[in-house]
Amino acid sequence: MQIYKNQTLKIYNSIAGKKEVFKPINEGHIGMYVCGPTVYSNVHLGNCRTFMSFDMIFRYFKHLGYKVRYVRNITDAGHLVDDADEGEDKIAKKALLEQIEPMEVVQRYTVDFHNTLQKFNFLPPSIEPTATGHIIEQIEIIKEIIEKGFAYEVNGSVYFDVVTFNKTNNYGKLSGRKLEDMIANTRELSAQSDKKNPQDFALWKKAEPEHIMRWPSPWGDGFPGWHLECTAMSTKYLGKTFDIHGGGMDLKFPHHECEIAQAEASNGVSPVNYWLHANMLTLNGKKMSKSTGNNIYPNEMFTGENPILSKPFSPSAVRFFMMQAHYTSILDLSNDALLASEKGYLKLMEAITNLKGLPTGSSSNLNVDAWKQKCYDAMNDDFNSPILIAHLFEAVKHINLIKDGKESITANDKTILEETLNTFVFEILGLTGVNEDGNGNSKKLEEVVNLLIQLRNDARSNKDFALSDQIRDQLLAMGIQLKDGKDGTTFNVS
Ligand code: AMP
Ligand code: ZN
Repeated sequence: MQIYKNQTLKIYNSIAGKKEVFKPINEGHIGMYVCGPTVYSNVHLGNCRTFMSFDMIFRYFKHLGYKVRYVRNITDAGHLVDDADEGEDKIAKKALLEQIEPMEVVQRYTVDFHNTLQKFNFLPPSIEPTATGHIIEQIEIIKEIIEKGFAYEVNGSVYFDVVTFNKTNNYGKLSGRKLEDMIANTRELSAQSDKKNPQDFALWKKAEPEHIMRWPSPWGDGFPGWHLECTAMSTKYLGKTFDIHGGGMDLKFPHHECEIAQAEASNGVSPVNYWLHANMLTLNGKKMSKSTGNNIYPNEMFTGENPILSKPFSPSAVRFFMMQAHYTSILDLSNDALLASEKGYLKLMEAITNLKGLPTGSSSNLNVDAWKQKCYDAMNDDFNSPILIAHLFEAVKHINLIKDGKESITANDKTILEETLNTFVFEILGLTGVNEDGNGNSKKLEEVVNLLIQLRNDARSNKDFALSDQIRDQLLAMGIQLKDGKDGTTFNVS
């Protein structure tokens, strides 16, 4: 259904510095690129927050009826320890440390990334390209940038010439920086540097003999600069200009600024119409980060094995905690905040379960149609999930009053309420029911066990007690305990 035709969506566009009405390049279609993880270690919860914000945005676009091509890359080469194009490749460094191949590092942490996202009930992107799979495309872009006079080669490395570029374009337009200020505030180049200016950035780096991740190029053996892969992969799969580019706030500069420069230098057009930046998850008031160790890992959340946690938290409780903050706001993680979110999440789930059994009447106290539009309005206002959640709790309040016999709802309104809650809670916010994964597996388990209970009852009626006992005992061995009561048989899963 093309719901988008009846809704006006506004998005905070970082490059414009304001909210703008969203209009895709091709009606009904959206091209969205989000910078993916550098797979040299396990993703921490901060990384998950950024990807979760874009998962929610992807889900809302899909719900509105857009055909979305969502590209989220894997950085498996080129991301150096130091942003100033010096130091080792993060993946090569880890490979040396662990005495394994760089591609083993990549495989290990890509698998961890996928497993973690699956636990949080993420939808997979449409394409998940890798930097190493697009070396040829990156080399082609470098050739074009050199040809257009915006890059130069020195000793087997190629650098982007920011000063020349800034004469005809605006380097700094995304991050709001001015090149003159950057020049005034930077240190002199070190004697070993091949760069003409400290602001120039690497498109290709010569590989020293000890550098293990290397590819042949017209400039000798080397490896691509980090910013280049995203230009290569976004333009390859989404075109020279596409709708949305996202990433964490910390990528605005230099990464995204450099992406704009590369794309404008090679293609002559602005690459992205809407830039979206997700804000940081903090711990103890400081950004969660791999390098400082100020972080917490998803598995620690699920097991509760971290000194700051008083208990484990389910993936959906954590997801609900994230969704209670707007994606452009900083969010601080604490045990108290998690406990409060868990309470809210359980209350919401309980209300959704109770709604099914509510009696219907001849009138409704809640104007369900107006309430439904308020839910859309919240999401249409730059994906405002906390306001949406406040509206969901307005519905929870009514459900509880109806349950207590203090309010009523018509059958038609009850159907709309149920459908709308399911849409916003499960489809758009991506939550799952208590003890349920994204595939509804606990529901399936319930159906299978009920089938076995039925077969056991049949066996008993046929006086086949050997079979009925076998069903009960084998289920028990799997941790599923049947309980016979006066209203039939129920079960517990341990
Ligand atoms: P990386 O693997 O370091 O390239 O980071 C992957 C993504 O996680 C990027 O979009 C970062 O901006 C984002 N990110 C890193 N730290 C945090 C944090 N503390 N909170 C939210 N997002 C983060
Ligand atoms: Zn990127």
